[in-house]
Parts: sequence; structure tokens; C-alpha cells
Amino acid sequence: MRNRLSTDQYTNGILAGDRLILSRAITLIESRHPDDQILAQEVLATVLSQTGSFRSDSSIRVGITGVPGVGKSTFIETLGQYLTGLGHKLAVLAVDPTSQRSGGSLLGDKTRMETLSMNPNAYIRPSPAGDSLGGVGQRTRETMLLCEAAGFDIILVETVGVGQSETVVHGMVDFFLLLMLAGAGDELQGMKRGIMELADALAITKADRDNALHARRAQVEYRNALHLFPPTGTGWFPPVLTCSALTGDGMETVWQTILDHQQQTTSNGHRQRHRQAQQLAWFRSLLQYELANRFYTQPGMRDRLTAIEEQVQTGTLLPVPAVQQLLHEAA
Ligand code: GDP
Repeated sequence: MRNRLSTDQYTNGILAGDRLILSRAITLIESRHPDDQILAQEVLATVLSQTGSFRSDSSIRVGITGVPGVGKSTFIETLGQYLTGLGHKLAVLAVDPTSQRSGGSLLGDKTRMETLSMNPNAYIRPSPAGDSLGGVGQRTRETMLLCEAAGFDIILVETVGVGQSETVVHGMVDFFLLLMLAGAGDELQGMKRGIMELADALAITKADRDNALHARRAQVEYRNALHLFPPTGTGWFPPVLTCSALTGDGMETVWQTILDHQQQTTSNGHRQRHRQAQQLAWFRSLLQYELANRFYTQPGMRDRLTAIEEQVQTGTLLPVPAVQQLLHEAA
């Protein structure tokens, strides 16, 4: 990267809440250039050693998901305006493993969240361009920490259900919100069952105009459906809410629900245990990712793999000795 700043310049800029420097530091985190990666880790470590965990402890991390068209970006725009109106500083991040910098990734489209993107107390960052979901998730976690260090006290992480991205986002937030459409059909609802089990709350979107009645009906149906799920063990029962990003109805209730959850899980110790478990899971997935990365990027590995895979395919070599052979060579 051209014109890199020094670690101190990045650190001081971030801690002072300088958005330009924050953006440059995030670009560093997203870079695949080895020199950038070393500097990014230095900046991250320095920033965190100065803030300790107090800024991340006082932040609220919220994941938001839902099928395309459910109204995620409109919802975030309205909720974001409401939250900054309350005096919060809000960072909006995204996890989209299919995104390319040039393509129409989540949040990447300039027409989305027009008002929020002009808001001085909101910071919007599109999804890093994706190779693997693991890589994208890892960079988003680090970005989240930098945003917290820069003074953003609410982090919204948007995702759309592509290749387990919901699970990855669920693993980095305190509260996971699932947006649902009224009357979206059994097929879709069946598909979303696994995601419903991750949710801390469901919100039926577009509960306005002709749709208000449908939304209320869907609310009752989902409430009944959720009662059939096993208890989460946290003492929290996911409520089903309705909202309209168009009129703003329900935004206050959504936020109050997040605060209630925060309050309850803080007082019963679940929040701290949850974050500790997340840290450990992050460490483990990072270790796996790095090990695999080191293994596959060894010189000559690609050709060697092709040769061995051919032998495995034709049956001249069995999978177990094939793996042992490769690992032995790598050691
Ligand atoms: P996303 O793909 O989930 O981000 O969905 P969008 O936010 O782009 O919204 C999809 C469509 O639904 C757009 O045409 C919005 O104008 C519309 N929409 C979003 N929220 C509402 C709402 O609260 N009420 C109504 N009536 N329409 C909405």
C-alpha cells in the first residue's frame, strides 16, 4: 500500500476517532500484502493495549440478517438514524463472502443507506472482498475492534444467508436479529428454521400500509413456532416484533428489546461467558485457517496435491497414507 502511516499515527488517529485514519487502518486489515498484514496486527495490538477491553465491553454488537428484499438496509437506515438521535455512535459493517470490491456487495451500493452514510455519527463499511467466509469473518471481527476503539458504541453487522455467513456473524455479536417477511411461504420459512434457532429476536418488517394485518398474523404464527424450539439456556426467550422502516414504527421496541437482553445477560453472567466463548471460537477458527493456509501455500504444494489426488482417484494410493505422506513431506 502506498503512503502507509506509522503505527503511532494509526493508533492515535483511531483513538481520537479520526474516521479517515480508521478507514485506512481497516484497508490495511483487509489487505493481503504481507507488509500490510504485519502493520495491521501491530496497530490492532497497540490500539487494544491502550483501550484494554473497556471500550468493547461497553459496546453493543448486533447482527442483522434476513433474505434479500426483506428490508435490511432500509431497516438499518431507520434504526441507525434513531440510535444516533439518542446520542449513540454507530458503525455498520457487513459480512458477505460473495462480495467483490467492484460488485454490488452488501452496503457497497451507493444508493443504500443514503441518509445514514451522511450522518456524522454513523460509519458505514462494506463487506471486505471475499475469498473464503473464514477470511471475511476474521477481517470483520478485527474491523469491529478498531471501530470500538474509535469510540463507536453500537456495531451493527449485516449479513445475508450465503454459505453459513449467519453462523459466522452470530459468533461475533451479542444479539442476533432476524428480519422476516410476512407471508413469505412455507418453503422459505422451512429454510430459515436453522437461522431462527440462532435468533435472539425476530422482527417482521414492512408492518405498514396494507401489510400491517399480515404482519400481525405472521407475528402470532412465529410466536407459536418459537414455542416449539428448545430453550436456549440463557434465560432469554426470543420475542417476535413487528416494525416498519418506512414509518419508524417498532424501532424503539426493537432497541428496547436489545437493551433488555443486554441487561438480563449481563446480570446473569451470560454475556461475559458468551463473549469468552466467542473469543475462544475465534482463536480456534483462526488457528485452523492459518494452519490450512500455511499448508496449502507451501512451494510446490499445488502440483504435489494434483499428483496425489490423481493417485487417490485411480486407487493407486489410499486416502489415509496419501494424507500421511503429504503431512510428512510438509513437516
Ligand atoms: P434488503 O435487500 O434486505 O436490504 O432490502 P431493502 O432495504 O433494499 O428493501 C427492499 C424493498 O422493500 C425496497 O423496495 C424498500 O423500499 C422496501 N421496504 C423496506 N422497508 C420497508 C418498510 O418498512 N415498509 C415498506 N412498505 N416497504 C419497505
